[in-house]
Amino acid sequence: MRMCWLVSKDRGCQQIKLPHLEMVVIGRGPETEITDKKCSRRQVQLKADCNKGYVKVKQIGVNPTSIDLVNIGKDQEIKLKPGQILHIVNNLYPYTVQFLEEMGTCGGREAVEPKGEKRPQDGSENGGVENMPGKCVKMEQMDPQACDSGCKLNNSSSSLSSSGSSSKSQECFEYWAHGLKASMQNPDMQVYKDEKAVVIKDKYPKARYHWLVLPWKSISTLSRVTQEHVELLEYMHAMGEKMVQQCPEKDTLRFRLGYHAIPSMSQLHLHVISQDFDSKWFKTKKHWNSFTTQYFIDSKDVIVMVKKKGRVIVDKEIAKLLNLPLKCHVCKRQQPNIPQLKEHLKEHWPK
Ligand code: AMP
Ligand code: ZN
Repeated sequence: MRMCWLVSKDRGCQQIKLPHLEMVVIGRGPETEITDKKCSRRQVQLKADCNKGYVKVKQIGVNPTSIDLVNIGKDQEIKLKPGQILHIVNNLYPYTVQFLEEMGTCGGREAVEPKGEKRPQDGSENGGVENMPGKCVKMEQMDPQACDSGCKLNNSSSSLSSSGSSSKSQECFEYWAHGLKASMQNPDMQVYKDEKAVVIKDKYPKARYHWLVLPWKSISTLSRVTQEHVELLEYMHAMGEKMVQQCPEKDTLRFRLGYHAIPSMSQLHLHVISQDFDSKWFKTKKHWNSFTTQYFIDSKDVIVMVKKKGRVIVDKEIAKLLNLPLKCHVCKRQQPNIPQLKEHLKEHWPK
């Protein structure tokens, strides 16, 4: 069965369930955490059609609600589809819509495939998921980074049904979090491998070149890294540098190698990413800040820290960096929104 969720782009953990063909009205209030007086308490009416894969959005409030920056107009209705951004009012409070496929048996043969996704040959697609109890849900077309690292769904939200779907969605997040383990085994994703580590293409690249270097040794996350892993970290770094060296645009693009302070995906992975950020997958403030603030820790700094302190220590407030205003990473000029930032970044691309 399909389910529909409205997902806040600012607060990845805030999800509002939109039951099939049921009218849901949202606006200023605890559910959205919008306190802005310009937003009516009944700002938008939403009706999801899980079969057709869209949500009909009607603006009820006086101030403009928009989809992909096109104002809907009072009492007018527009369809919202996955990938589009709904701003609740005045181009603020962005949300996207996600359709979930609830599967019969997690990892089993009857599991529903995401549209257009090929099932790997080696049967390891469900890495780690087979052991999960009961049912699970599988999200379509969603980058796990859209949700805060390790986040739990907002169970207190009145819009979440009491039917257990929030716990299923939690399972879903766990399912995603293991996606890298599946990808690293998938020959279609691998670009280089040897006995110690593998390089894969990031499935949702945030720049022209975005690879992930993963060790075969099971290390769940950066915080599990200890001094015994220093050699491996250095090895992964060297592998990342090799990737840069073989890149056809290596002379004109800058690259960074590093780790997210709080990774969202399970299994240690080193990002190797070009600094153009020229990508359709780079969509949110969180994406931007996760790669351009101190949330992104250079691989060399990680190695030094582990050598000196025995592990990677991150500030407990580090996640706040994800909400900083958008600032160009090259000239440091602040940008009002993602579309303008994207436009601005072109100025720094090699001519
Ligand atoms: P993070 O855990 O925040 O350091 O980043 C995880 C990275 O993995 C992101 O850049 C995602 O785009 C990428 N990603 C998510 N799911 C997959 C997948 N199944 N295969 C390959 N890359 C993925
Ligand atoms: Zn700039």
